[in-house]
Amino acid sequence: MTKPTVDKFVEMIKQKMETMYAKKIEDATPNEVYYALSSLVSEILNKDWLHTDEKYDQRQPKQVYYLSMEFLIGRLLESNLLNMGLREICNESLKQLNFSPEDIYNEENDPGLGNGGLGRLAACFLDSLATLNYPGHGFGIRYRYGMFEQRFINGYQTELPDYWLKNPYAWETRKADEAIELHFGGSVHMFERNDGKLEFKYQNTDKVLAVPYDVPIVGYHNKLVNTLRLWNAEPINRTDQPADDSSYYKHLKNNHAIEQISSMLYPDDSNDDGKRLRIKQQYFLVASSLRTIVNNYKKNTRESLIHLPKKVVIQINDTHPSLAIPELMRMLMDEEGFSWEHAWQITTNVFAYTNHTIMSEALEKWPVKMIQSLLPRLYMIIDEINERFCQNIWFDHPELRDKIPGMAIIAHDQIHMAHLAIVGSFSVNGVAKLHSDILKKQEMKNFYNLYPNRFNNKTNGITHRRWLLMSNPRLADVISETIGQRWIQRPRELTHLLRHTKDNTLLEKLSQVKKKNKRNLAEYIHETTGILVDENSIFDVQIKRLHEYKRQLLNIFHVIYLYNELKDNPSLDITPRTFIFAAKAAPSYYFAKEVIKLINTVASVVNHDPTIQDKIKVIFLENYNTSLAEKIIPAADVSEQISTAGKEASGTGNMKMMMNGALTIGTLDGANIEIKNQVGDSNIFIFGLHAEEVYNYYQDGSYSPNEIYQNDERITQIMDQLRSGAFGHDVEFTDIYYHLLSTNDPYFILKDFESYVETQQQVDRIYRDQNKWLSKSLINIAHSGKFSSDRTIQEYATGIWKLQKQYF
Ligand SMILES: *Cc1c(COP(=O)(O)O)cnc(C)c1O
Repeated sequence: MTKPTVDKFVEMIKQKMETMYAKKIEDATPNEVYYALSSLVSEILNKDWLHTDEKYDQRQPKQVYYLSMEFLIGRLLESNLLNMGLREICNESLKQLNFSPEDIYNEENDPGLGNGGLGRLAACFLDSLATLNYPGHGFGIRYRYGMFEQRFINGYQTELPDYWLKNPYAWETRKADEAIELHFGGSVHMFERNDGKLEFKYQNTDKVLAVPYDVPIVGYHNKLVNTLRLWNAEPINRTDQPADDSSYYKHLKNNHAIEQISSMLYPDDSNDDGKRLRIKQQYFLVASSLRTIVNNYKKNTRESLIHLPKKVVIQINDTHPSLAIPELMRMLMDEEGFSWEHAWQITTNVFAYTNHTIMSEALEKWPVKMIQSLLPRLYMIIDEINERFCQNIWFDHPELRDKIPGMAIIAHDQIHMAHLAIVGSFSVNGVAKLHSDILKKQEMKNFYNLYPNRFNNKTNGITHRRWLLMSNPRLADVISETIGQRWIQRPRELTHLLRHTKDNTLLEKLSQVKKKNKRNLAEYIHETTGILVDENSIFDVQIKRLHEYKRQLLNIFHVIYLYNELKDNPSLDITPRTFIFAAKAAPSYYFAKEVIKLINTVASVVNHDPTIQDKIKVIFLENYNTSLAEKIIPAADVSEQISTAGKEASGTGNMKMMMNGALTIGTLDGANIEIKNQVGDSNIFIFGLHAEEVYNYYQDGSYSPNEIYQNDERITQIMDQLRSGAFGHDVEFTDIYYHLLSTNDPYFILKDFESYVETQQQVDRIYRDQNKWLSKSLINIAHSGKFSSDRTIQEYATGIWKLQKQYF
């Protein structure tokens, strides 16, 4: 399709409104305009989608399948328009029709298909795959309910159901004819056939239908459209009547249990509830996806499945989809008749595994009994993989014999999914240099010694299309005015901005852009919280899931410290600051919820205390998600990336904010280290313990938070305020106080406090010199190209996947 003119597009929208709603555009609601527009955009892109699929079928290139329990894709209307080159035309058309484009885009619900960084990474990867002309697709689950909608009541987090599918989802297409039948539970029986081979029969299994819903993934200006396939769980025959003589009630209950599988996203990776359902979800995802992948292979090639690794590579996003390894073994042996050895050769050349965490409590383990009863045949296979793996070490790697108990896939009645994933994959990658090094040298050391060539690093990235072009168009325009538009296709060329660090007119433009973005956010804050913030204050932003290791507590301790200083001396000369938080806590994570309550309580004290003359404000925005991130990030001056060193695998929020001109205050953790290496020490604010120091403290146990509590008056005061009721009533925050002291402050909040405060004072000082600040901001933008997910995907494609770009 050639691009329509604005006049033509206006006509198309009007037409669509009439055929879809039998309405004149003048009478349409923003919601109707949203749906009409989405339908119009779908019709246009469906041509390219079909064409892409046909080309893949004809050419049979090797394809990557990204298996992930989460895809935090965000809204799609504006990003699809952007990638199709229609955004400006559409915005103009909407304005001519007297609609605000922003209002229309805001009609779209954020799909509740992910929790945080891991799911957002998967979404950025799909965008980059399609844009870089790679044949690559996502497989996920179509959860009807997302994590939860967060509201604050009296400062406490409350969770409302996030029924994001309440309204029809404009971007999905149900493909009922490609549904897959799956089996859970029951029992397995072995038979010896006449030819001596074993045959496995399943009895009394529960059957589930996996129905695919496809979402298009549109490349940027290249007419390529890949697929995100989301599975919906349904009864095999959706009738209200039982097929056999079981009771009507039992039948409905059974249908309900089946639908549960895709009913909700787990908001929590740290609690024990619903483990069985979680395993069912994982198997549901991998079994239906593998069936589809193998069916496609068979449809398009006449070759034996022994050559599957030439056409297929499957990336498993964390261990959640690692049941795919025994499931593919099962399919190859039980359904296709391969020997164990051949099946294993195929399997271990198809899978690649990405590790996302080194926090041992977050490493997935499943009770043997559960897997045995839910997936009896898979359990047999996992057991055999484990047996052969341990034998192999015993005989071929005697130097590792004493390490076997720590490396086994099955140990202490638990299945260690990370071990399964490593043993069954040809590639294991971490997500930032430090993280990959820690995997090799500490967490997965024994596996690294066994398989040194398997381990590699792929530092995370973010799509600069969504996180700069789409969400910060003003900044994108200033960049293009300065260095032209080539950076959009080659984000590394943002470094051309470095020639302009002393260009005062450019710095002034940057300043204007930031001011406008801050004004927009200030308006949003006013609308949603009723609080007025100073647009000239430093917007200091920490937005991410609430976790102890991410240390929102350290941030609020700094706020309390500033507040105490101002109370002592109201004329204290500090640069006014607005501390902006957004974060969801897992519903069962008590400590995290206490921190939310503390931040909200400090906010209500600070924001209403006239003695401090509005020098600091604290804002906690509800319901952090992709769309909220898109509003906040363009307005950020300071990016808080303050996790305990060694704990944050990579972080991607850090990349989004630097790309939008915020300066990072952070620890030497995750990708912060690589950001520092890009921008240089003087354009980032680094503080706190190093990962090695943290590690050594854990080893020798010499850290004493109590000593700091006793000796640092600032901390004594803050800690005592937690107990005394200075914020809220007496007992409110004593738990935080006791927690820090009784668990020996495992995340070193008290230890890093001093260096954090000093570094924040530098931030304060440098911000006063706006020219200096803006030039640092520009340097950050200039170096952010490295953190485009285009770079990350290019590394995966050449280093792990071995894909060829497809042009047509
Ligand atoms: C980027 C992003 C994250 C990840 O943020 P981190 O700071 O890296 O933890 C989480 N949630 C949303 C909605 C995001 O956009």
